Amino acid sequence: MKAIPYGRQNIDQNDIDAVVETLTSDFLTQGPKVKEFEERFAAYVGAKYAVAVNNATSGLHLAVLALDLKKGERVITTPITFAASANCIKYAEGEVWFADIDSKSYLLSLKKTKELIESKPRGFFKGIIPVDFAGLPVNLEAFRELANEHDLWIIEDAAHSPGGYFIDSKGNKQMCGNGKYADIAVFSFHPVKHIACGEGGMITTNSEILYKKLSLLRTHGITKENMIENHGGWFYEMQELGYNYRLTDIQSALGITQLLKNNEGVKRRNEIAINYKVALKGKVKYQNLPDGYLNAHHLFVIEVENRKELYDFLRAKNIFAQIHYIPVHNLPYYKEIGYEDADLNNSENYYSKCISLPMYPTLTNEEQQFVIEKVLEFIDD
Ligand SMILES: *Cc1c(COP(=O)(O)O)cnc(C)c1O
Repeated sequence: MKAIPYGRQNIDQNDIDAVVETLTSDFLTQGPKVKEFEERFAAYVGAKYAVAVNNATSGLHLAVLALDLKKGERVITTPITFAASANCIKYAEGEVWFADIDSKSYLLSLKKTKELIESKPRGFFKGIIPVDFAGLPVNLEAFRELANEHDLWIIEDAAHSPGGYFIDSKGNKQMCGNGKYADIAVFSFHPVKHIACGEGGMITTNSEILYKKLSLLRTHGITKENMIENHGGWFYEMQELGYNYRLTDIQSALGITQLLKNNEGVKRRNEIAINYKVALKGKVKYQNLPDGYLNAHHLFVIEVENRKELYDFLRAKNIFAQIHYIPVHNLPYYKEIGYEDADLNNSENYYSKCISLPMYPTLTNEEQQFVIEKVLEFIDD
């Protein structure tokens, strides 16, 4: 059996043709493919605006800047995420505060977030960055209610969840990144994520003001619109200190063909999830899925007591399971800032047991059966 990774991209001839076509076109960057990708992506998630960026980390950076995060201002996120969800706060010299996860969904706990907010004076926090961890959508309607009570913004880190949705209190589907409850959402197009661009990201929002700020900051803060002066056709103004966080047309062309396959990919991911659940039910713990929600399943995580032994056992069988994630507050950079006293027991307990089994659309049934067999062999031993 060849090596089985925990995740991998799915590139077919359509993707290759789209990239080759762009390579021989007039634009390698800042051309029509970027715009097309943005429009298609916004339509896919049901948001008004989308801004393509060179990766999700840049997208998160621009998101906090567009929401005007300033030095020393405090933002809450989850410890069970990739470091970038918290790092964006530090880029703006803000303060990261962690609230614990819910031990059943593994998502940022609404209850813990509320307790943390209410333990501080009004105005103490500026925003919340919940993460659709593993692809399970956060109930943003509930977070919005809390955020409104305390005048906070919300950035949805949707790196794991393109195509996922939750069900709101009226029974409506709310697609991840649709901008209905979060101010801004950010997606990643790293190859282990659903849509592979090599590197890439997308920011979505329903706010025209935020859309304009994000677009300006993506390209150095340079614009030809709303200028104070105008010396002629060549003239532009740098109105803010921005960045070069642009996505290329080559990557956007790939993003478009990848996006067109996303529903199929999410469907296959859910078949794989059901196979795991059927085979492992009652033997291991896994993420619970509220009724009606669609988990986009970037990951399939199980919890086991002797996690390191299982990790090593699977590796020896050429199955490259992975751990998601080392709690961010325990990474040396954050440890040094000092989160020893934070009450993050659910996150730490989860980390001691979690392991992500292979999950990607091209995982064959035969490969998955082999993985299941080995996991059962280990557990039943
Ligand atoms: C992958 C990931 C990011 C960062 O994505 P990049 O495109 O690699 O910058 C941010 N947040 C989460 C939750 C991620 O998994």
